[in-house]
Amino acid sequence: MPRTVVITGSTSGIGLGIARAFAEDGANVVINGFGPPSAIEAAVADLAALTSGKVIHHPADMTRPDEIEDMISTTSRTFGTVDVLVNNAGIQHVAKIEDFPPEKWDQLIAILLSSAFHTMRHTIPLMKAAGPKRPGGRIINIASAHGLVASPFKSAYVAAKHGIMGLTRTAALELALDNITVNAICPGFVLTPLVEKQIPDQAREKGISEAQVKDEVLLRLQATKEFVGIEEVAAAALYLASDAARSITGTHISVDGGWTAQ
Ligand code: NAD
Repeated sequence: MPRTVVITGSTSGIGLGIARAFAEDGANVVINGFGPPSAIEAAVADLAALTSGKVIHHPADMTRPDEIEDMISTTSRTFGTVDVLVNNAGIQHVAKIEDFPPEKWDQLIAILLSSAFHTMRHTIPLMKAAGPKRPGGRIINIASAHGLVASPFKSAYVAAKHGIMGLTRTAALELALDNITVNAICPGFVLTPLVEKQIPDQAREKGISEAQVKDEVLLRLQATKEFVGIEEVAAAALYLASDAARSITGTHISVDGGWTAQ
């Protein structure tokens, strides 16, 4: 029986990379996120070609608890359960606290933090019902180096990412006797659309070139001076979902090129 994996925000970037890794591992994959219908159809077809399991897309908006509930119940109806839940959907907004639009604050907290609470509260009963089979249930929260340290002008993002670290640890303790592990992955900068969108704005604001934004702003604290690869984050997720990682719970794996070693 293939395992069933739900990955929020997986029509792009890190989420799509994680979907690819689980598809290559033979899982049923539920992708989620926005994008042009043709691009989503193409992503589903690409993933389906990698796995002996099935692939579906669910369009739930991670700011909408009712749609999140429908995503998990649709998965349960289609595949019987959820074995692996990856909370990954995310957006960014960069502004001083006094200029930060309150509706942007609410949107970031909803997508980056509250959505994980909602996916988890609907998924945990399904995972508990699966009982002692191995590997057990796996919840993987894609946090960030910003779950461990801060940067200026990213108040909502840093607050939400610190929040998800706390949610990860709390859930791990609640589920420790239920054959379910809960962990976070804390990537440094990965060159995805989320990061690429920030580069022209930062270049304009700081009056420097886009190449300088990459080297002097984004990679300033990444000791390796290289962006993290999407496939490196995906490999960490696949490992946390493996039976070998069954004693790893309530913690995180940093994939940040040495950023938080400083
Ligand atoms: P991305 O922009 O490439 O992908 C974001 C995904 O989230 C897309 O599929 C998008 O459609 C989806 N999404 C956005 N709003 C949504 C909503 N309301 N409902 C459902 N889906 C929604 O971004 P990414 O860089 O791949 O980021 C993925 C995760 O990784 C985020 O949680 C981000 O904070 C985290 N992260 C990224 C980096 C990085 O440098 N790129 C570093 C650390 C952590």
